Amino acid sequence: MKAIPVHELREKILSGETTCEEQCHALLEEINRANKKFHHFCMVSEKIALAQARELDKKVKKGFRGKLLGAGLSVKDSICVEGVETRAGSKVLSGYIPPSSATVVQRALGEGAFVLGKTSQDEFGFGSYSVNVGVGFEVPRNPFDEGRACGGSSGGSAGFTSLTKFTQVSFGESTGGSIACPASFCGSVGLTPTYGRLSRHGLIDYGNSLDKIGPMAKTVSEAALLLGVSAGADQKDSTCVDKKTDSFESFAGKSMKGKTIGIVKDFTGDDLDKGVASVFFDTISFLEKEGVKTKEVSLSMNKKFAIPAYYLLSTPEASTNLARYCGMRYGLSNDFSGKSFDGYFSEIRSKGFGMEAKRRLMLGTFARMSGFRDAYYLRALKVRRKLLGEFKGLFNKVDFVVHPTMPFVAPTFSEIEKLTPLEHYFADIFLTPSNLGGFPHISVNAGFHKGMPVGFMFTADHFEEPMLVSAGSMVEGLAKNA
Ligand code: GLN
Repeated sequence: MKAIPVHELREKILSGETTCEEQCHALLEEINRANKKFHHFCMVSEKIALAQARELDKKVKKGFRGKLLGAGLSVKDSICVEGVETRAGSKVLSGYIPPSSATVVQRALGEGAFVLGKTSQDEFGFGSYSVNVGVGFEVPRNPFDEGRACGGSSGGSAGFTSLTKFTQVSFGESTGGSIACPASFCGSVGLTPTYGRLSRHGLIDYGNSLDKIGPMAKTVSEAALLLGVSAGADQKDSTCVDKKTDSFESFAGKSMKGKTIGIVKDFTGDDLDKGVASVFFDTISFLEKEGVKTKEVSLSMNKKFAIPAYYLLSTPEASTNLARYCGMRYGLSNDFSGKSFDGYFSEIRSKGFGMEAKRRLMLGTFARMSGFRDAYYLRALKVRRKLLGEFKGLFNKVDFVVHPTMPFVAPTFSEIEKLTPLEHYFADIFLTPSNLGGFPHISVNAGFHKGMPVGFMFTADHFEEPMLVSAGSMVEGLAKNA
C-alpha cells in the first residue's frame, strides 16, 4: 500500500491541511480493523497516541517543526516505551510497564512522531518467522497472504509497515537478521545500522554484542530519516558511538555510478530458489545498466561457520540476560510463601517462557558452563573474529556486498511447522555474516515471485550507512514498476 511519505505529510500539517490528531485517528482505526486478521500489534497504545498527537498539534501552533511531524511510530515489543506494557513478546514480562522510553523512542517522539503501540515478535527475538511468539501471543500474518509468515523476529513491524495506507515508521531490532528477514518477506525497507550507531538503552537485550535497533519504513528515505533522528551518542549506552549524520535521507537518489558491488557467489549459486534468483539477477542487470560495476566475491568461511558461531555466541548471551526474569523484579510474579527460591523461580520460568526460549536457555547455559566454555563459547568468539576478517577484507575490493536477503519468499505456516529447529536456524544463513560483523545493511523489495516480495540486500563497511541509502533508493523503484 502507498502512503504519503513523512516529509510530505509534515508539509501538509504545517500548512494546516491536516492535523496530527486526524492522522492518529486514521492509523488507530486501521490498526484496530487490520489487527483482528493480521496481529501485527501485541499492544495498541491508543490513549497515549491520541494524547501525544493532540499535544503535537498544540506545539505546531507555537512553531514546532519536528522532522517526523505527524508520523505514527510503531515499536517492536522488545523496545521500552514509557507507560506502555512492554514484554518482548514474552509472558514472563506480563504487566511490565517501563518507567521511561528507550533513547531512540524519546528521540523520535521529540521530532514529532506519536507512538501507536508495540509490534509482534518472536519471544525475545528468538526466531526467523515470528511464529515463536510467547505463551498467549498471536502470530502476525503476512499482508500479502495471511497464510504465510511475516518473517522474524521483527515481524509485526515489517507487516504493518507494508500494510498501512497511512504515514508510519517503525523501530525493529536485529540480533542475527531480524530486520532484514521480515522486511524481505513483507516488502518493506529494513535498515540495520552498524553495531553501536544507535543507542541500545531501553532495549530488552537478546545478545548484547549483537543487538541493533534499526528503522523500518515504506521507503528508503523515510528509513534514512528515522535513522538520522535516532542516531548519535548516548550517555546511557557506552557502546553507542558519537557519529551523528543528520541528513542520511539526503543520500537517497544519489548516483552510484562507478561504485563496485560484490556478488556473493556462495549465496547465489544453483541451489538458490529459481524465482528469487531471477529477481536478484534482473536487479544486478539493472544496476549494471546504471553504471555500477560488478565483481564476484566469496564468503565461504562465513557460509560454513557463521550460523554455528552465531548460535554459540547469541544463546550464552541470551541465557545470561534472561536470568533476570525470575518473578522478583519484572513482570510475572506469584505468591512466594512456603516455597524455596529454586522452586519459586522454576515455577515462574516454566510458566513464563515458551518452548524456543527454553531451548535457547539450555543451549546457552551449556555452551558457557565451566568445562565447556573453552570448547564452545570461547572458540566461537575466535571464529567470529575470523569471519569478521573475511567480510572486512571484501571492502578492500568492493563498495558493497550483495545477495538476496532471504533464500526464498515468505513460507506458509504449514511449511514452517515441518521445519526442525536446525532448519529454522539455517533460514538466516545469508544474514548472520553481516550481523556477526556488525556491518550495516539494507533490504529493499526488488520484485515479486509467486505474488510474494523478494528482498535485495546491500551490506557496506562499518558506518557507511549514507552509501547504503543511495544504493537502496536506486533499487526500491524496481518492485513498484514490476
Ligand atoms: N533468527 C535469528 C535468531 O533466532 C535472528 C533473530 C534476531 O535477529 N533477533 O536468533
